[in-house]
This record gives sequence, structure tokens and C-alpha cells, in this order.
Amino acid sequence: MTYQELVGRIVALQDEGLELFNAGKSVLGKNILATHVGDYSGVQILIQGGIHAREYISSLLMIEQARNLFKNDLVHGGGIYFIFLTNPDGAEIVLDGIDSVSCDITRQYLTIANNGSVDFSQYKANINLVDLNTNFNADWGGGSQNVFCPSTEDFVGFYPESEREVRSLVNFTLKTKPLLTISYHSKGNVIYYGFENQSSEDIARDQAIGESLSELTGYPLIFTENSTGGYKDWCINSLKIPAYTIEVGDASLPHPIGEENLQEIYIKNKDVPLLALEKAKEYAKQIDFTSPIVQNINNGKQKSNAKGYNARIQRFIERRNSNWSGNSQRR
Ligand SMILES: [Zn+2]
Repeated sequence: MTYQELVGRIVALQDEGLELFNAGKSVLGKNILATHVGDYSGVQILIQGGIHAREYISSLLMIEQARNLFKNDLVHGGGIYFIFLTNPDGAEIVLDGIDSVSCDITRQYLTIANNGSVDFSQYKANINLVDLNTNFNADWGGGSQNVFCPSTEDFVGFYPESEREVRSLVNFTLKTKPLLTISYHSKGNVIYYGFENQSSEDIARDQAIGESLSELTGYPLIFTENSTGGYKDWCINSLKIPAYTIEVGDASLPHPIGEENLQEIYIKNKDVPLLALEKAKEYAKQIDFTSPIVQNINNGKQKSNAKGYNARIQRFIERRNSNWSGNSQRR
């Protein structure tokens, strides 16, 4: 599979009637494609995948999930956002090789980090050699596997949310206000829940929902330990919502997990989005839930960015002018 074929699969969902929009942009300016299935009113949940470059099997899974839900009109009284490929720059390197990187210096930099090898099939990071799922602001840098120097995996970035993909996902989440999130990764056939310092009430809530997901998929449920800075961690820590990492594909399979395994993975995960939405609706009844006003948000549009930028420039100039007049008065 090539990168263009992968993106082509996502884009082809439009031909079947699904609406595509951008959840944001990658470092290299690629669109982070998303869709929404169901109603824009009521409880929303968000499912994202492909945040690690070599794990595009998760994108293929989510394409099938979204197609099935839309085609059979299965989602009512709430909605589900799918962000298919959070790390498009990284996926392109895995799928098309290092020669797909047009900048000489970047290509050399990545090859050095890859121990001089041109085999990038095991690559996890984004184009900046940051492991995006360690770059979120949730006890950033506190994970046992974290590294603090650019690397093909586990580099947390020079500061939290340093990466455009991470800021895109954070902004998109804050705008769409999901009550539950799922992050699809590979591999291992397990579900991770919970985060350090989470309240015992929230752990109990997340464990109960997680057990339902575990029962459905047959994947064991495991409490997260010694892992920080992930999207799931940020959702739990900052937003106080249930969030899960689901690792698909048998642990014995080599990375990247190929499409020949998709059918088996899809069968196990087909009904995960619907079950997660139903569970989110149930717990919404127990909290002071107000239906968010949501829509197909095109995140990071040039126009709104420019407006915000110009407003910040304007504030800067005003502050500078007032400082100057202040200084002159003091003189
Ligand atoms: Zn992963």
C-alpha cells in the first residue's frame, strides 16, 4: 500500500456520502482528515488512530467502522467523530520510504536517527522525530520509556504540545467536546484505561465501561502504568472523561501490520464505536450534561488563523505603544 492509496481510501468515503473535513494539519501541512457519523446534537465521542507512523492498520479499521455505521444508519441520538490518520507525515515515510521526504537535510537527519538505515518500516514518530503520543500535556516527560533527544520513537518533544498534530488534536477535541475517546494503536490485542492520580470514582467509571469493551472485543483490560503524555492520558487528566487506548493485532505479528489482518481485526472491533457511544450516553445521564453545539469543524483554516494572528499582532502593538508612552512619561 502507498500513502496515496491510504489517503485515497479515506477520501473515497465521500463518494459513499460521508462528509470529510480537517481536524487540523500536520507539520508538513497535510490535512488531518476526519468524518462524523450520526447527529451533531447529543452526546459525542471521538475515535482517532494512526498517531504512530507504522500503525496505519488502525486507519484502515476506522474507515471500515465509519462506513458500516453510515451505510446502515446505525448512529442516533448522538454522534461519533473519526480522525483517521493523526500522523500523516509519519505514515507517508513508512509507506513510501525516506525518499518521499523532499528536503535533503530532513532526510539526512531522519536517516541518522534511524541508525543509518533506509528501512523506515518500523518508524513511529512524526517528521520532527517526536513520538506524538508522548507530546500531550499530561505529566509530560514522566513516562518510563520517554527519551529526551530526537528519535524514531519515544522522544517526547522539547516541550509539551510542541507538535502541530498534537495541537490539532487538542483543539479539535476542545471544539467537539466528546464525552469519551478511543485511540486506536497496534499491536497486542489489549485495552488500556486509567491514568495516574485519577480519582477512585473516575477509575471505577472507566473500568466499568472498559470491561464492556473488553467483553465485546475479547481483549483484556489493563490499567495504564508508567506511561504519560498520550492523547488518552490528556483526555483523562485534563478533560476528566473516560478514554481508552485499544491496541489491535496479535502481538506476534510484525510491524507494520498488513491489510491481510484487517478482516479479523474489524470483526472484533466492528461494534466498538456504537458500544462506546451507548456507554457515554449512560454516564451522561449521571452528570450535569449539556449537549455541546458541534458541527463539522474545519480546524486551522487559514482565514481564522490569520484573524487570530492579526488580533495578537494588534494587541502587541497596542501594548508596545502604551509602554512607550509610559516610558516617555517616566523620563
Ligand atoms: Zn501506537
